[in-house]
Amino acid sequence: MNENFDVLNRYLFEQLHVRGEVVQLKQSFDDIIGSHDYPVEVTQLLGELLAATCLLTATLKFEGEISVQLQGDGPVAFAVINGNHKQQMRGVAQVNGPILRKSLTDLVGKATMVITIMPKQGEKYQGIVALEGETLSECLEHYFATSEQLATRIWLSVDAEKRLAAGMLLQVLPDSDDKEQQLSDFEHISHLTATVKDEELFNLDAEQLLHRLYHQEKVRVFEPQAVSFQCSCSEDKCLAAITSLSRQEIEDHIEEYMSFDMTCDYCQKTYHFDRQKLQPLLNPQSQH
Ligand SMILES: [Zn+2]
Repeated sequence: MNENFDVLNRYLFEQLHVRGEVVQLKQSFDDIIGSHDYPVEVTQLLGELLAATCLLTATLKFEGEISVQLQGDGPVAFAVINGNHKQQMRGVAQVNGPILRKSLTDLVGKATMVITIMPKQGEKYQGIVALEGETLSECLEHYFATSEQLATRIWLSVDAEKRLAAGMLLQVLPDSDDKEQQLSDFEHISHLTATVKDEELFNLDAEQLLHRLYHQEKVRVFEPQAVSFQCSCSEDKCLAAITSLSRQEIEDHIEEYMSFDMTCDYCQKTYHFDRQKLQPLLNPQSQH
């Protein structure tokens, strides 16, 4: 039984032009689903999106934040996972109608995948891909092929009932001029990786899994990185949102509801502001 969930492992092949990642998630996935009352298909989708975002985040070579969002005209209006280079993740989905079938296109309809990368230093980057593939992993492979022009393969597995999510990523390592050799290495390792089974991803730890798949290859595994759920909401951010309203709007709201309560979409924590707490916004002059 795997005891090592909520870790991301990066590895490369000593004698081949290929690198890889494997992520196995349990608690972080469970925390993101939390007490949201999602249909099982949506839990499944968020699990895949979570594993995918962890893998994508680990390909970045700088500190910053990333968000992977699906938006469309299906019963799932949007689903998003946000993460950062510390593998701190949060996510949410909005379900607008009944889910009758469970393919990706049945869930999100005609949709796009928006990948936003926000480095701590430097320009924000946004990549938008039409959701044309049958699966999320196909869409992501397409994204890598167009944005980074690197051959990439992704496998995603989710057990929504047990709240287990896992994923693997392989990418060509463009570290030489021999493109042909790189691609043949990549094909070879893809072939081995494609034999991976869901129960292996869920039940073996990374070391056992990599041995099972690649025991004839020389694999170097880097320091594992912990993955956790972390919501970035705060009282200050809520206050900032309230500040964007007019004084009259705030007055009206307090008049009607006695207080101003804001609930975070991601973690469902409620922030409570009574009249006294909002006094500085209502009476800016009284602030010294
Ligand atoms: Zn929150």
